[in-house]
Amino acid sequence: MDFSSEIHEECGVFAVYSNKPTAVASTVYYGLFALQHRGQESCGIVVNDDGIFRTYKDTGIVNDVFTPQVLQDLGNGNMAIGHVRYSTTGDSDRINAQPIVVNHIKGRLALAHNGNLVNTDTLKEELELNGAIFHMTSDTEVISYLIIKERLTAASIEEAINRAMDKLVGAYSLVIMSPSKLIAVRDPKGFRPLCYGITPDGRYIVASESCALDAVGARLIRDVEPGEILVIDKNGVSSIKDHCGKEKHSKCIFEYIYFARPDSVIDGYSVHEARIRSGIFLALEHSVDADIVIGVPDSGIDAAIGYARESGIPYGIGLVKNKYIGRTFISPGQESREDKVHIKLNPIPSVVKGKRVVLIDDSIVRGTTSRRIVELLREAGALEIHMRVSAPPFINPCYYGTDVDSKENLIANHHTVEEIAKMIGADSLGFLNPEYVTYLNGSKNTNCYCTACFGGKYPTKTKDEYKAVSDYSKKLSERI
Ligand code: SF4
Repeated sequence: MDFSSEIHEECGVFAVYSNKPTAVASTVYYGLFALQHRGQESCGIVVNDDGIFRTYKDTGIVNDVFTPQVLQDLGNGNMAIGHVRYSTTGDSDRINAQPIVVNHIKGRLALAHNGNLVNTDTLKEELELNGAIFHMTSDTEVISYLIIKERLTAASIEEAINRAMDKLVGAYSLVIMSPSKLIAVRDPKGFRPLCYGITPDGRYIVASESCALDAVGARLIRDVEPGEILVIDKNGVSSIKDHCGKEKHSKCIFEYIYFARPDSVIDGYSVHEARIRSGIFLALEHSVDADIVIGVPDSGIDAAIGYARESGIPYGIGLVKNKYIGRTFISPGQESREDKVHIKLNPIPSVVKGKRVVLIDDSIVRGTTSRRIVELLREAGALEIHMRVSAPPFINPCYYGTDVDSKENLIANHHTVEEIAKMIGADSLGFLNPEYVTYLNGSKNTNCYCTACFGGKYPTKTKDEYKAVSDYSKKLSERI
C-alpha cells in the first residue's frame, strides 16, 4: 500500500480448511500478514476445532495483535477464517473488528467480509422491524442476520446463503465457516477479488489475493467466480452457481492500479503487469523531454518502470521510503499529514539534482501529499518536475468498500489538470486516460470492470439512492 496516497483499502479475508486438526491459526496469521496492505485498523481470527469456535480480534496490525501466546491459545483446528480491516462502513473501533461469530438455532456461523453493500439501510430497517438487534455499525452483521434468517427454513447453510444473495446488492467477498463447512462467496458483479488454492499437504486456502496463497505455500487453483458459492468440506470442493452470469460483471479496476499487491494475480491478470502497462500508456499519451523517471514508492514504481521502458528515459530511484513508519492517514489533521510526508519519503539528491524529472504516482486525491513530494524534489535540486499519474482523475466517491472520498474532497472535481499542476507545483501533469483504464490488464473483455470513481457510471444504485427509496417508503407508510 502506498503510504503517500490518500485513499485506503477495503479489507482482506483469508481462510483455511484441513481434513485433520493442524495449526490453522498460524496459517491464517501468515495469510493475513500478506494481506496487511488491505487493512491495518483491526484484525481477527476464528478457529473451528471440531465445532468449537475460538476467536481473537483486536485493533492493530497482524503482527501486534497475534502474539505467539495468542496463536497458541487459539490452538489447533481443522478450519479457520481471518480478516484484516480498514473501516469503510462503521466505526473503526474494536466492536467492528471481524470475523464475527453468531450463534443461531441451527448452530454457529463465523463470517468475514470484504466490500460494502449499497442497500444496507433498507435491509437493516426490514430486519429491525422483525426484531433484529444490531451491535455493530458495519454491514457485515446485516449479511449474517440475513443468512441466519434463511437458515431457519433452508436445508443447508449454502442454500441459506444462496437465498440471502437474492437480497444483497453491492460488493461482498465473504468467507463463512459453519461447524463442518468452509464457504467462500463472491458477489455476482465480482467487485472485490477472491481466489482459492491448495497447499502441497492438501489444505484448501481461500484469500482476497493470490499473494496470500503464495505466503502459505499454496498453489492458486482459480478465482472464485462472480456469483459463486464455493463449499469446502470433508467431501472436497463443490459449488453453487445460481447467481453466476446473471449480472454484468463490475470488477474493481482500481485493484489493479492501486489496492492489490503487485505480486498478486487477479482474475488471471498480473497486477504488476497492469501497472507496467499504465506507465506505458502514460508515456504514449503524456511524453515529455526529461532526464530521469522516478516512482513514488511503493505503488508508483511499476508504472515508472513502464514509463521508462516506453519513453527510453532512464529509470532511477529518486525517493526512498522509510518502511517503519505508520500510514499517512493516521495523522489527525491536514497540517501534520503534510509534515509526515518528509519523515516517510526522502529524495536522493545525487539522483535528481540538476535533472528534469518525470515523477510517477498512482493517484492524486486531495493534492496535499503530491505538493509536498514536488517540494521535496525541488529542495533536492530537481530542475523540472513532470508529474504523471497512473490512474485517471477521481471525480466520484466509491460505494463498494473503499474510501475514495466524498466529491468535495476530490481535487479533480473542482480543478482542471492545469490548475492541479499549478497547485501541486509541478511543471506539467498528466493522468491516465479514463478511456484506456480498462485495457490495463490486457484483457479483451474491457466491459467487465467498475470504473465509477473515474467515470461516474455506477454499476448499481448508489447507497444514497437506496436510502432515498427507503425514506420515501417510510414516509408513505406513515401517511397511509
Ligand atoms: S468506484 Fe472505483 S474504487 Fe470503487 S469499486 Fe468502482 S473502480 Fe473500484
